Amino acid sequence: MISRREFMAGSVALVAAASSRLVPKSESILVNDIHSQLNSTHVQGISQPQSLEDVQSIVRTARKDRNVISIAGGRHAMGGQQFGTDTLLIDIRNLNRVINLDREHGIIEVEAGIEWPELIARYLTLQNADGQAWGIAQKQTGADRLTMAGTIAANAHGRGLKMKPFVSDVESFVLVDATGTARTCSRTENSDLFRLVHGGYGLFGIVTSLQLRLAPRKKVERIVEIRLADDLMGGFEKRIADGFQYGDFQFSIDHASEDFLHKGVFSCYRPVPIDTPIPPAEKELSNDNWKQLLYLAHTDEKQAFSKYAEYYLSTNGQVYWSDLHQLSIYPDNYHREIDKKIHAPYPATEMITEINVPRLALKGFLDEVREDFRKNSVALIYGTVRLIERDDESFLPWAKQPYACTIFNLHTVHSPEGFQRSERAFRRLIDMAARCEGTYYLTYHRYATRNQVESCYPQFAEFLRLKKKYDPEERFQSDWYRHYRAMFTDSL
Ligand SMILES: Cc1cc2nc3c(=O)[nH]c(=O)nc-3n(C[C@H](O)[C@H](O)[C@H](O)COP(=O)(O)OP(=O)(O)OC[C@H]3O[C@@H](n4cnc5c(N)ncnc54)[C@H](O)[C@@H]3O)c2cc1C
Repeated sequence: MISRREFMAGSVALVAAASSRLVPKSESILVNDIHSQLNSTHVQGISQPQSLEDVQSIVRTARKDRNVISIAGGRHAMGGQQFGTDTLLIDIRNLNRVINLDREHGIIEVEAGIEWPELIARYLTLQNADGQAWGIAQKQTGADRLTMAGTIAANAHGRGLKMKPFVSDVESFVLVDATGTARTCSRTENSDLFRLVHGGYGLFGIVTSLQLRLAPRKKVERIVEIRLADDLMGGFEKRIADGFQYGDFQFSIDHASEDFLHKGVFSCYRPVPIDTPIPPAEKELSNDNWKQLLYLAHTDEKQAFSKYAEYYLSTNGQVYWSDLHQLSIYPDNYHREIDKKIHAPYPATEMITEINVPRLALKGFLDEVREDFRKNSVALIYGTVRLIERDDESFLPWAKQPYACTIFNLHTVHSPEGFQRSERAFRRLIDMAARCEGTYYLTYHRYATRNQVESCYPQFAEFLRLKKKYDPEERFQSDWYRHYRAMFTDSL
């Protein structure tokens, strides 16, 4: 998490760096995702539209020239959703302006390539701290430079204790469809597209702007305790009953210890009066501290957890703004340093997976994972448990009921054996989820088998058919889409 001071200083630099012109390039370019760096893809060129009209003109030209388009935001997806081999890549990040802030209703209209730090910086400047201010309700944890369009496309979530996925925060968006037509989509206008585009991974068109519902900006106090996973749901319920609004549980990764996936740091946040001071010298981890913790997670699991727990406990009682506490530090390319320090024979990165299970099944699921990870020596770098409420709006919901969401960030060696190990671990996790009516989150990889996809997403084939209905010439494609089109070819 970063301090407000650092945040404001950083965002000025970011705003200055964020304007570049429409640059179609002709040579083949190699692009990759940020975290796993396992989606190296050749694209024909990259276009960086500056306006809705630029986007429309790119789509119309692509249609005329029979070109195929892929769409990228902050490049955090790890299943190849944002890149398509030999496509024209639209980098949406220059569409990053605030269009309007409705201070009466708390709705902000922004261009869809804006990332969280700029969004927060801009609305803070616009509200200038007078009277009741508005802030974001939720964002992803663990990384900040994600776009609003990418957040819609994955139908992402944060660490709210009683929140639904991001679709519930969006009033409407503008989508440029496969014909280059701009369509407003909301719960009452083009509602089918509204449902499909949330969690639709860029297959229905290019989102250029959106109206995002904000929440009253508050101050929150962090309360930290170390507890066991055995009655974690009871712990969450108690916190919710006591008015806490955010929280998560980060469990021990020490395979050899009793604590493994059992003991964890339970941090929750409750509102406090708005005049509660935030001392300038509050403790926070620096970029270097994070790198050190990540290094320890690779070399000394016991120390990694105890240092993390010690730090979090020392911040018990600290007060934060409800939006800024959701920002995180992500040390870019941190794995390269680790590889060097440990003299790794192959490069490696982490791959994340998120498995969602019915809340009552959480304990049994964690017990099963613990046994499996020990037996198969699965290299877990960190993991958390959060909560999500049921998504009753998107077409392809991952939150099919109120779930406990478990995150596993696995060390993945970039060798044939390393890939196979992660693939097998992810598939075993999905099987465990499917056995208890859980789901896995589509954004992180495409290792699931057809049976697994169908068991977690029974409407997946219909989703692909609707893609063809709205985009019959398949103008918008990604390697993720091509993978599933091939997998479901007999149903299309
Ligand atoms: C370290 C890390 C932490 C994360 N934490 C969380 C978390 O806490 N909660 C959570 O829910 N997720 C989390 N994620 C996943 C993340 O929310 C998704 O991968 C998200 O889609 C990434 O957004 P992005 O801007 O990076 O988009 P990209 O990765 O560039 O693209 C993702 C998808 O969005 C589509 N897209 C991008 N722009 C547009 C557009 N203008 N119109 C239509 N489609 C578009 C792309 O085609 C692609 O399908 C995390 C990922 C990482 C790597």
